[in-house]
Amino acid sequence: MTTPAPDLTPAVRDRVHALTSEELPAYLYDLTALHGHLAAVRAALPERIELYYAAKANPEPEILAALRPYVDGYEVSSGGELAHVGKTVPGAPLAFGGPGKTPAEIAQALETGVERFHVESVHELHMLADLAARLAPERRIAVLARFNLPVDDGSLDGSSLAMGGRPTPFGLDPDQADEVVALLTDGRYPHLELRGVHAHLASGLEAPEQLAVAESIVSWAAALAERHRVPLSEVTVGGGMAVDYAHPERRFDWAAFGAGLARLADAYPDLTLRIEPGRALTAYCGWYATEVLDVKHSHGEEFAVVRGGTHHLRTPATKGHDQPCTVVPSDAPWPHPWPRSAAEGDRVTVTGQLCTPKDVLARAVPAPGLRAGDRVVFGIAGAYAWNISHHDFLMHPRPGFHFLGAEEADAAGEG
Ligand SMILES: *Cc1c(COP(=O)(O)O)cnc(C)c1O
Repeated sequence: MTTPAPDLTPAVRDRVHALTSEELPAYLYDLTALHGHLAAVRAALPERIELYYAAKANPEPEILAALRPYVDGYEVSSGGELAHVGKTVPGAPLAFGGPGKTPAEIAQALETGVERFHVESVHELHMLADLAARLAPERRIAVLARFNLPVDDGSLDGSSLAMGGRPTPFGLDPDQADEVVALLTDGRYPHLELRGVHAHLASGLEAPEQLAVAESIVSWAAALAERHRVPLSEVTVGGGMAVDYAHPERRFDWAAFGAGLARLADAYPDLTLRIEPGRALTAYCGWYATEVLDVKHSHGEEFAVVRGGTHHLRTPATKGHDQPCTVVPSDAPWPHPWPRSAAEGDRVTVTGQLCTPKDVLARAVPAPGLRAGDRVVFGIAGAYAWNISHHDFLMHPRPGFHFLGAEEADAAGEG
């Protein structure tokens, strides 16, 4: 059964009521809520832990800018993200990751002065060295070698997207560690500096699992440094902090995670430890609001068809969940001479306008009496939502975008 969305914030509730039918669907981002969340996350983390935001979770310019006071930098994974983030938050430190970097993207990163490269293969390392020697001969380029490290199976129970500890195209195999360290330290590539190790092994981890993974990455990196007698001054332990779509009130335990990271940092006082979450930073600030176009009965089930659909909010389709949502009944007079379609039972399946049975946003939504014209607001839509969706499929209009709260206050302050 679909769970209710988190309580609508006052700004979201007001805007849902204010928008006309034709202004729906719309993405609503509560920037005041985002500021509050980020301040709490930052406060839970020891000061010396660096926090990077993985831009792919949600790269809306207003979101990137709102994050700026709380993050030490941004992780970008393509030439497009690199250009976009560089332009939106100029001067912010960037780490450039991702498999399959092209020569043009690496050249772009070198020319724009990216702070560090997360190198994902031996081929990429050679290519980076070659381009750095030609395009940035005056600099020493900081390299974090990304490894697909073995993880203790127990610590990854429940994670939804394992990217490490099993065969994947991400990062270097641990078997290649000695070769990579040799390539970066035997003097043949003087333009590159082996700065440390990067890993991002799974998504959807709770704080204890996340800490276990971080500890194993750090101790593996320390052993590598020891074995080769090379200094490794940075370890990035990735993102993947859990967001629980079935239980919106259960939040990642940043306090416990921060306390654990503090212990880990104390055990390795010379090391800069970095995390790079995406989803858990921005998911809760976003909402997708829409309107019920029609309610219909089909073979014993009831369906509410809403404006928009999974081409705007693909998250439930990709993750295979029901997107938590809240019904906001509309008491506006029904404008038509024919009857208003309405649900007879207690549960409806909420679908979009696409001509495919996959366009399901939420099943078994408790919505007794739901009627055409009522509004449905989906929560936890601030990450991997609009930007992962197949917008052009069926050529429906795009949703509106509203950045509420802090941004409006800023604009008012300027005026
Ligand atoms: C996607 C990604 C992240 C962020 O993951 P979340 O699950 O959004 O926290 C961090 N690092 C890398 C390398 C990634 O690919």
